[in-house]
Amino acid sequence: MAGTAPPRLQIGETTCHILSDGKHRADGGAFFGVVPRILWERVVQPDARNMIPVDVRCLLIETGDQKILVDTGHGDKFDARLRKRYGLPPERERLIADLSRAGFAPEDVTTVLMTHLHADHAGGMTRWRDQVEGGPVEPVFPNATYIVQGREYDAATHPNERTIATYYPDNWQVLTGTGQLCMVMGGHDFGPHVRTETAAGHTDSLQVVWVESEGESLLFLGDAANFAVHLERLPWVPAFDEMPILSMEAKKRLRTQILEKNPLLVFQHDPRVVTGRLVQSADERFTVVEEIVEDPAWDRGRDAPI
Ligand SMILES: [Zn+2]
Repeated sequence: MAGTAPPRLQIGETTCHILSDGKHRADGGAFFGVVPRILWERVVQPDARNMIPVDVRCLLIETGDQKILVDTGHGDKFDARLRKRYGLPPERERLIADLSRAGFAPEDVTTVLMTHLHADHAGGMTRWRDQVEGGPVEPVFPNATYIVQGREYDAATHPNERTIATYYPDNWQVLTGTGQLCMVMGGHDFGPHVRTETAAGHTDSLQVVWVESEGESLLFLGDAANFAVHLERLPWVPAFDEMPILSMEAKKRLRTQILEKNPLLVFQHDPRVVTGRLVQSADERFTVVEEIVEDPAWDRGRDAPI
């Protein structure tokens, strides 16, 4: 497969690959909630339609015999109207292509760990069989067990007027028939080096993923902190979050653990900052010291290619 291999990080005995389902365009205001544009546009420049570039990162963790994939991106089941609405790139199977560049096939994935079931995380759980749009769907990862928080599954299968726009049954329903869906309640260990922890706020039971081995650690924040700036500033909470006050509480709790363990942080949606580490200055300010940064062209919303 052509293209450069995605970032590969060694965390003690485990190897992590930061994959991407590709960048898309999203409403800038929605990502910053009550924060006025005059402040957030210093972080990411919107285009004339107020849209900003957003990444959809996933993580592949190699640990022992396990290949654990965290989240699956938008996938390819949206029709032309929704693809346009979400500003999706024209390429298909973006995550699968990235997985291949990392050296793996969908069949190799043993566990798919879902942070939650919103459309931009869960769309790639399944795909159209034989690429027949509107036909039956099949699991993208045929040998994997898909792990979902039980309360998240309840929320997704009983959506309200607001959440129905992001919970698509096509993304998980077929997995109940194939026996691949596994429900958990609360934090869970996946072998000696991988564990989840719930961080309610964005949804009722959003989960973040820790990788810890030989004194090193990595934290995949999911939608607990979309961009680095969301972790730096407590009140910067996306309008997508169902319970913004709980989002702030979750970030406070995570920050305490982060300062203690100094993990490499992976930001799922930040268009520029892929990874970094959090530091606290003497005047109580929090700053993400960037480690892996993406093509700065994506910082200039007006010039970006979509
Ligand atoms: Zn979400």
